[in-house]
Amino acid sequence: MNKYDVIIIGSGPVGLSLAKSLSNESFSVCVIDRQTKDDLAKPAYDGREVAITHFSKRILKDIGSWDLIDQSCISHLKEAKVINGHSPYSLHFNFEETNQKTLGYLIPNDRIKSAIFSSINDDQMISFKEKASSKTFSINSDGVEVKLESGETIHGELLVAADGRLSGSRRQMGIPAEVKDFGKTVIVCKMDHEKEHGNIAYECFHYGRTLAILPMVGKQCSVVITIHSDKADEILEQDDATFSEDIATRFNHRLGKMAVTSQKFSYPLFASHADHFHSDRFVLVGDASVGMHPVTAHGFNLGLRGIDTLTRTLVEAKANNEKYYSFENLKKYNQTHQMNTRALYYGTNLIVDLFNSERSTAKFMRRFALRLGNNVWPIKKMIMDQLTENK
Ligand SMILES: Cc1cc2nc3c(=O)[nH]c(=O)nc-3n(C[C@H](O)[C@H](O)[C@H](O)COP(=O)(O)OP(=O)(O)OC[C@H]3O[C@@H](n4cnc5c(N)ncnc54)[C@H](O)[C@@H]3O)c2cc1C
Repeated sequence: MNKYDVIIIGSGPVGLSLAKSLSNESFSVCVIDRQTKDDLAKPAYDGREVAITHFSKRILKDIGSWDLIDQSCISHLKEAKVINGHSPYSLHFNFEETNQKTLGYLIPNDRIKSAIFSSINDDQMISFKEKASSKTFSINSDGVEVKLESGETIHGELLVAADGRLSGSRRQMGIPAEVKDFGKTVIVCKMDHEKEHGNIAYECFHYGRTLAILPMVGKQCSVVITIHSDKADEILEQDDATFSEDIATRFNHRLGKMAVTSQKFSYPLFASHADHFHSDRFVLVGDASVGMHPVTAHGFNLGLRGIDTLTRTLVEAKANNEKYYSFENLKKYNQTHQMNTRALYYGTNLIVDLFNSERSTAKFMRRFALRLGNNVWPIKKMIMDQLTENK
């Protein structure tokens, strides 16, 4: 009977990054996913342009994926401005106030995913079960058994759930999670524009909807709209000319004429946080542990931070001849990662509530929050450190 050190359910960007990170440390890994290897090698464009921090770049470099990303599609984020309604006042972040050459990077999600897959494809320590769905699993003192829909059974020492924010494995394990449904939909697409964007990212909180304009390479940007779900179809069905004109107007023509150049993609907006991330021989990673609202662009970044923490925890236990899959060892991962996620998760949800509320106190608080952020250096520094830290 073949027994893997680690079985990972889910080959999203986090599951695959973890597989590579563990194989680099000589763990044998089996990854299970419904998708085929072809789907993973050439993922379809999904409209997501993912903001990546310096820390995440380092992790992607360590697992050999960063250099496989087509470097010509990586955009450098130099400044970020947060705008309240139509006020000219903005909360402003500039890379010059940091010790880095850029605040972060913006990369198409499909390019990130294909690069991660390329880095694991020929890895002898990683087995891949494609077109495979986990049906049930059992865990006892001898190990983990995962039954696939096909009837095949896979054996391992540790089971990792990387199966996304509605994780079926988390549910099967009986780990409670808070799920916050914002009742909104996020719509994303690519647009060309007339004027240079200067590598500045904008987050505009208009009443009832938000508009983010994220600078891509050249005179192109990623447009991210959040809107009440009952109004989403209206936007999705707009013809290209009407949509383009509407976005340019809402953005006060800062980039001149704008023209949509891709399909519009929509995602339901909800966030989730698991009560705890571990059990005996079982851990949660990526969106299965914390599914973030995209406004602060932390989902994948937090997933990579969790991978770094989990890999260190397992490697240290193995080096000390301890059971790396034991409850006590995995508790260390849980404690460290909960400290990294909780404040960001609740902080992000608070910002979203504050900037979407129509109450007059919230409108006042918004103006106050932007000025506080700009003028109180410790707050601004904390946010910028979060963006630019690479340790
Ligand atoms: C519009 C938008 C913009 C975003 N922007 C950013 C950003 O700027 N920065 C950032 O850091 N994050 C961003 N995110 C978040 C980021 O995309 C996610 O955090 C990331 O994709 C999570 O990866 P994952 O591998 O944990 O989960 P997923 O990508 O959800 O992958 C889960 C995998 O599990 C598989 N699976 C599920 N169940 C089973 C089963 N039973 N058996 C086998 N396989 C199974 C699925 O097929 C899938 O491949 C954004 C998200 C959205 C929607």
